[in-house]
Amino acid sequence: EGDTSGGYASSNGGCVKNQEGAAKRRSSPYPTDDPILARIGRTPLIEYPEPTNGADILLKLESDNPTGSMKDRIALGIIRELEDDGELADVDIIVEASSGNTAGAVSLVTNRLGYDSVLTTPAGTSSQKIGYVRSFGSEIVECPNVDSDHEQHYRKTAKRIAEERDGIWLDQYSNQLNPTVHSKWTGPELWDQTGGDLTHIVCPMGTGGTLSGIGKYVTEQDSDVRIIGVDAEQSNISASFYGTDSGTYDTDVEGLGKGHELPTMWFEYVDEVQSVSDERAFVQARRAAADCGILVGGSSGAALAVARDITTEQPNACIAVIGCDGGEQYFDTIFDDTWMQEHGYSTEYR
Ligand code: PMP
Repeated sequence: EGDTSGGYASSNGGCVKNQEGAAKRRSSPYPTDDPILARIGRTPLIEYPEPTNGADILLKLESDNPTGSMKDRIALGIIRELEDDGELADVDIIVEASSGNTAGAVSLVTNRLGYDSVLTTPAGTSSQKIGYVRSFGSEIVECPNVDSDHEQHYRKTAKRIAEERDGIWLDQYSNQLNPTVHSKWTGPELWDQTGGDLTHIVCPMGTGGTLSGIGKYVTEQDSDVRIIGVDAEQSNISASFYGTDSGTYDTDVEGLGKGHELPTMWFEYVDEVQSVSDERAFVQARRAAADCGILVGGSSGAALAVARDITTEQPNACIAVIGCDGGEQYFDTIFDDTWMQEHGYSTEYR
């Protein structure tokens, strides 16, 4: 408390009437003496500088976490919660399955906390993601790209390794501690940074943990704030949310859903699920870079696209967008014209 840096103050006075609230900075629910782990959380909330019809878009830069995404929070938070519950006392290794940002996060956190760890990844996982795991010294088990009910699937493999080697499988896709960590940490942090003066929160959905946790905390403070999840077009997540027929699900956007409802999605705290095409997600991420000098990944691009739609309808809106990761790991894909063209996406910004 008392440190005002990182608290957002609106330029147009539209958001954050409660400056006192904005100035308050909550400390982490998982305090640590470790200087590396202490860098997790307290991410900046910046004003998105593109013209927004008078409304405010505030972008939370989770790329400021040590491995570049909000997954650092759940890696630390889940392990701390398990330690507090005594569940790691007889555990030799921590195991997680991830094709994305969670792999690096678990690898960093286990390194600093002194646990051995195994990360299982599907074939095709990007070298940037595996790079974190290698660098921090976790064991990597690369699995073939097979159906989820196949014995060699990377999640099944993680479960099996945990059983065979006296380990624990964190399982972010069903572990209730995933949304719980965000409800104790990311939600309160965002709330304090805005002084509670918000009309909408827009957040990409993979496991749904980030959205659900933030949604729970914020809804409990003010049930009028609209909590909006973002997923790929044709996803079964919005189909289960709205009770409609599901489409044929496929997406190139890193981090967006597994295509179906999961136990980590707390729909009772979600007001809307919006679907965004891959092209729009990527084009918006490219615009954020080219027009605003902000590097975010495709899932954040999708969320920014939804926020911009809201601003055209509601000039008084104050929208917080969760920018889940940075753009650096996508220079060879989203930000590369050849890759965009090869995948059939427009390279036009507008
Ligand atoms: N965006 C990116 C880049 C991600 O890595 C993830 C995590 N899969 C998400 C969005 C979705 O976050 P969550 O799993 O908390 O829903």
